[in-house]
Amino acid sequence: MSQVLTHTNITCPYCYSDFSTEIDITAGSQDYYEDCHVCCNPVQLFIHIDTDGEITGIDVTPGNE
Ligand SMILES: [Zn+2]
Repeated sequence: MSQVLTHTNITCPYCYSDFSTEIDITAGSQDYYEDCHVCCNPVQLFIHIDTDGEITGIDVTPGNE
């Protein structure tokens, strides 16, 4: 059974804490908001996924800019 969800650690652009988020790699490249687990600010994530389902890059930006 292939795995569709993967966890990755990102760094919050507000408080610089690391927290983990769950990514659905079958959905392809995507962007979404997730509240920082530490300071609760909205963080916008850009997940880049290639056609093999490999994560090629993750951009993290403050979501309220
Ligand atoms: Zn934070």
